[in-house]
Amino acid sequence: MAIIVQKFGGTSVADAQKIRRAAKRVIKAVEDGFAVVVVASARGKQTDQLIADALELNPNPPKREIDQLLSTGEQQTVSLFAMALDAMGYDAISLTGSQIRIMTDSAHTKARIKSIDAKRIHKQLDKGRIVIVAGFQGIDENENITTLGRGGSDTTAVALAAALGAEECEIYTDVDGIYTADPRIFKNAAKMNQISYDEMLEMASFGAGVIYTRAVEFGKKYDIKIHVRSSSEETEGTIITHEVPQMEGVVVSGATVQKDMAKISLVGVDNVPGNAAKIFACLAKAKVVVDDIVQTEISTEKANLSFMIGISDLTAAKEAVEQIKDEVNCQDIFIREDIAEVSVIGVGMRTHYGVAEKMFGALAEAKVNIDSITTSEIRISCAVDKDQAEKALEAICVAFELDKPAQERTKHN
Ligand code: ADP
Ligand code: ASP
Ligand code: MG
Repeated sequence: MAIIVQKFGGTSVADAQKIRRAAKRVIKAVEDGFAVVVVASARGKQTDQLIADALELNPNPPKREIDQLLSTGEQQTVSLFAMALDAMGYDAISLTGSQIRIMTDSAHTKARIKSIDAKRIHKQLDKGRIVIVAGFQGIDENENITTLGRGGSDTTAVALAAALGAEECEIYTDVDGIYTADPRIFKNAAKMNQISYDEMLEMASFGAGVIYTRAVEFGKKYDIKIHVRSSSEETEGTIITHEVPQMEGVVVSGATVQKDMAKISLVGVDNVPGNAAKIFACLAKAKVVVDDIVQTEISTEKANLSFMIGISDLTAAKEAVEQIKDEVNCQDIFIREDIAEVSVIGVGMRTHYGVAEKMFGALAEAKVNIDSITTSEIRISCAVDKDQAEKALEAICVAFELDKPAQERTKHN
């Protein structure tokens, strides 16, 4: 029997009525002949609430305890979901991450999955049961509960789809698919029918919170078809899949904005072999995820080095650079917390020119100053002031006609 994984995000299971609605989706798949594994998130804003509860008692809570606490949000949803299915006459069992041995590393609050034991799930499916798995959580080798990073239930879903050899992984959420830009910010964004793993990876890493980056990575690695769709409407959503030739014809597929960023610059570091390695070893030890590293030589003796981080890593990053500062003879540390990054993404950029010019032109016209620029083969990103970020996104979206479906845009847009 073919297996399908259906993941329901927080808003899609926020209350009893929504859990019932999600349960009906599951039942439909069962009636269509699938063995169904459900992955559920914590209800509504519960994860935020639990974090607030923790901070009320301790401004710097131990990360192990945060994970222990946050995992309870998903645990509640899955048991309620199983009860809802039971009431509808379907046999269901809920399981936590530890019960199905989702083994992770020990990086609390942003752990990475190492392995999943699919045996227990297969056994339950073979009995004709619907299996409801708590998203976002696992355990490390010492049996400590870990969580996979905010939005991490997506990762659980796609990783499970890979481990179970599922046909498809459906991500049910509060939008009906992936749009050219976040529709909450750019109201006229257009829905995409499909997007390549590589584009989605860049979009997710640079701010499109609709799906978690690690989930897309798993999808690409294990060739899982991911279908992002609405939990309230029956319409088809967006398929994340391998690149097909026609995708190259579209130069810019989407645009993103990432607001929760900070930029750290180390000014006047000694320009000698090994210093960059020392700095980033220190940041890695502090488990800080670093992006957009730029180093420039300012004289034969000195260099400036800057990088972006998520704002949640700021305290750890500050401590790390303070520790290493003297060893690399850094003259000054400069930190910007009021920074955001806007990006355009598209596999077509590999074969077309003029994207940078159009992006910078649109920002100039909107009177947005560019702090720094970074690129990949299929992305251009500009760091801008946080309070100009939405205006910047809008200007870029208009310039690249991201309010229209790809086939209706001016050629090469
Ligand atoms: P869930 O709780 O289901 O995991 P999320 O809030 O994590 O839902 O993700 C859905 C949200 O992602 C949407 O409400 C939307 O505002 C946001 N989003 C950001 N970028 C995009 C995009 N390019 N396309 C669609 N949604 C996006
Ligand atoms: N509940 C977690 C969060 O809010 C995980 C998820 O929803 O994917 O981040
Ligand atoms: Mg999410």
